[in-house]
Amino acid sequence: MNEMDDPFSRDQMRIDVARRMVCHQARTQTITHYTNLTRNRLATLRRRWSVSQDTRRRGPPPRSIAIFLRTPRARSEAAALATMCINFDALPIRFLAGGADARPPLVAAARYCETFEAYRACVPDSKIEFEEMLLLTYELAKGELVKLSTCTGCNAAILLLTCEKPRRICSHCDR
Ligand SMILES: [Zn+2]
Repeated sequence: MNEMDDPFSRDQMRIDVARRMVCHQARTQTITHYTNLTRNRLATLRRRWSVSQDTRRRGPPPRSIAIFLRTPRARSEAAALATMCINFDALPIRFLAGGADARPPLVAAARYCETFEAYRACVPDSKIEFEEMLLLTYELAKGELVKLSTCTGCNAAILLLTCEKPRRICSHCDR
């Protein structure tokens, strides 16, 4: 029996993933979606973990990829994170009708946490937030707005907008 089949282990996994998502300042609606914990249970857990209310993100989750394109640094960081998402197998590979990710949400969330934690260990001062990474993975998987490519100068990963003229050069080679 794997841990997803055993109700006790699955509940422990939900709590573990929720704790990691809380640490990464994911919004309540995002955490309840991926873990299937109720808002009340999550609120109880937050109190038990002594999470400061000040660190919570509120309002709708990020929806625009503009955050990854505003500066050369943001673009480089997004490309690096996108590469890690691929290497950590964190991208949705299939969508259900209506555009929902076909993976079991809890499994997907655990992958996202691993990827984000590894990324932040490599780039601790990155401005990219956890839920922005979720947006990035969705957009990369859909491939309608952005795609990942490589710089013709140095082979570094670069993020390209599908609507702009492809300019396959990174910000470092462009200086
Ligand atoms: Zn380059």
